[in-house]
Amino acid sequence: MKIEQLKGIGPKNQELLNKIGIFNVEDLLTYYPYKYLFINIININEANENDTVYVKGNIVTVPKVGYIRRNFNVLSFLVNIDNTIVNVRIFNRAFMKNNLVVGKSIVLVGKYNKLKNTFVASDIKFNIEGDKIEAKYHLINGLKESVLVKAIDLALKSNYKVEDLVPDNLNKEYKFIDKNKAINIIHQPNSYEEIKQAKLKLIYEELFNYTFKINALKIKNKRALGIKRDINRDEIDEFLSTIPFKLTEDQLNAINEILEDLATPERMNRLILGDVGSGKTIVAVIAILANYLSGYESAFMAPTEILAKQHYDSLINYFAGTDIKIALLTGHLTKKEKEKIYEDLNEGKINLVIGTHALINDNVKFKKLGLVIIDEQHLFGVKQRNALQEKGQIGPDVLYLSATPIPRSYALCLYGDLDLSMIKTKPKMRKEIITIVKKENEIKDVLFKMLEEIKAGHQVFIVSPLIEDSEESNLNSVLKLKEKMDIAFNYKIKIEIIHGKMKQKEKDEIMNDFLKGEIKILISTTVIEVGIDIPNATMMVIFNAERFGLAALHQLRGRVGRNDLQSYCYLISNMDNERLKVMEESTDGFYISEKDFEQRGQGDLFGVKQSGDIIFKIANIRTDSKILLQASKDSEKYLKNKEYENSKHYKNVLAEIDFLD
Ligand code: ADP
Ligand code: MG
Repeated sequence: MKIEQLKGIGPKNQELLNKIGIFNVEDLLTYYPYKYLFINIININEANENDTVYVKGNIVTVPKVGYIRRNFNVLSFLVNIDNTIVNVRIFNRAFMKNNLVVGKSIVLVGKYNKLKNTFVASDIKFNIEGDKIEAKYHLINGLKESVLVKAIDLALKSNYKVEDLVPDNLNKEYKFIDKNKAINIIHQPNSYEEIKQAKLKLIYEELFNYTFKINALKIKNKRALGIKRDINRDEIDEFLSTIPFKLTEDQLNAINEILEDLATPERMNRLILGDVGSGKTIVAVIAILANYLSGYESAFMAPTEILAKQHYDSLINYFAGTDIKIALLTGHLTKKEKEKIYEDLNEGKINLVIGTHALINDNVKFKKLGLVIIDEQHLFGVKQRNALQEKGQIGPDVLYLSATPIPRSYALCLYGDLDLSMIKTKPKMRKEIITIVKKENEIKDVLFKMLEEIKAGHQVFIVSPLIEDSEESNLNSVLKLKEKMDIAFNYKIKIEIIHGKMKQKEKDEIMNDFLKGEIKILISTTVIEVGIDIPNATMMVIFNAERFGLAALHQLRGRVGRNDLQSYCYLISNMDNERLKVMEESTDGFYISEKDFEQRGQGDLFGVKQSGDIIFKIANIRTDSKILLQASKDSEKYLKNKEYENSKHYKNVLAEIDFLD
């Protein structure tokens, strides 16, 4: 049933709904709220001065508009609340004036100062009878909340039924509520208890469906035919003896697992999970070498030009004593340069090509592609990853590298279709990054330390959660920090900014200048999270650190300490924050990710959120960890016992991934 069929939603609003992925009634019903407002109307005499409360009253006087300064106005009027005439003020709502007619009943949200008999409202609500739980939805520009709420209400009343994807026996076993009842509750709940029940059902369903697919993919991958090779272990060992360091045990294990994969006729689909700096590159190097020795070409794809270039430089170094021919293919090359590479690849003259998604270009044709390596795999979508693999005549082996140290059990659920090698130990030689949490009024200490590092010839990263100042004016934006720093250092130090809204070319240029050491302080949003290597950077300063998940903080901190110099990370936050103490305590990504899961704070799951593949409507793989693991177990069993035979939906899922023979 299309949304056009719902009476009362005009074409403009339909278009807006389309923009958030809503095309039919089912989309509407499964556009779940992200939070709830518990509207509990109290008597104004019970209002505490510091609490935000809801009160109900009737408007007594016509609101007056006052302009405090440009873009800043205030409405003042009197309201009869529980038989007290109260002064009400609300900022920046001049547009509401015409709606606030004398005699009208309204609900005010805000704080009441009894002494001054003044209620400062943050919002005014109409049409509220009594206590109520209000669902809150993510909106986009132009789409009014009231429109979305009305559309969902119409969808609920249409009596359209959404299919329940939880198998009957599991519904019984877990005493889940009915799917459509859950959907009703999720949008229009009556109690907190109800919401909990409904969420549990819908989250489990989503994760069951997801892990079913992952588990099926895993079995399918195991069946896929690949290249069987003879591995020349002696030659590999000889190469390893030329490496200037001794491999860690985890590196050796990962290498052995890969070599075994390459020797079997099944395709390799392996994920190397290791923290920043754990030494994943050498593992990839050995895979490429083994692939080369057995007569095949390798392709190595990185998410950005800078990363591709860095891999290129380091692999040229590693392979200096071999005959392996290496090319770098990125969007930066001229047409002629690209065409030369296409030609050489086609003729098999290049043994290893490193590049960005430029590698996916249709003109890229290999002679004998045997191995595909994808760095920071979560930054690529499934389509991009597959596009590269499909360039092989026989399915090439695939190796994914990821610097997102999540616990093994999660990794298995999320990436269950891949085999997993973990590199938990880090090479010993490096100095631990010293991490210190500071309040904003202690910023002088931090500035002093920055100056010290810059004077020593080193460089500094500063990170802010925002690009520009927003309504949340207590956050330090990138632009504001640039101003502050310029003033603090008297414009004598070269400071630049970088953020996600800049063009890729601009970003690359600034990163290059930073890499060359021309820029001393780089202020950015989290765009630098990806693994760029600036060995000379020894200090990371993160403002409003409480805004970031531990995972993100750890990734950011990993940008420094990439050399033998002592490095520092300063976390600036005015909040007393237990989470940030974990950062002071440890630099072990796996430990931090465990803590992150335990604490269930705000934040993202080590970049998993960025992945286009794993977007859940209601589940949160971090906070819903237990449900994820249980659903994975259940769906595995469901698949193994072929219980899906009775389900059209799951048979379709399997058909889609080409699982059924
Ligand atoms: P990442 O896992 O972040 O990709 P890299 O592979 O870039 O890490 O390795 C980081 C640095 O550590 C490199 O300079 C590399 O030469 C060095 N390295 C890797 N393995 C070892 C080891 N076993 N012992 C000492 N240094 C190592
Ligand atoms: Mg790396």
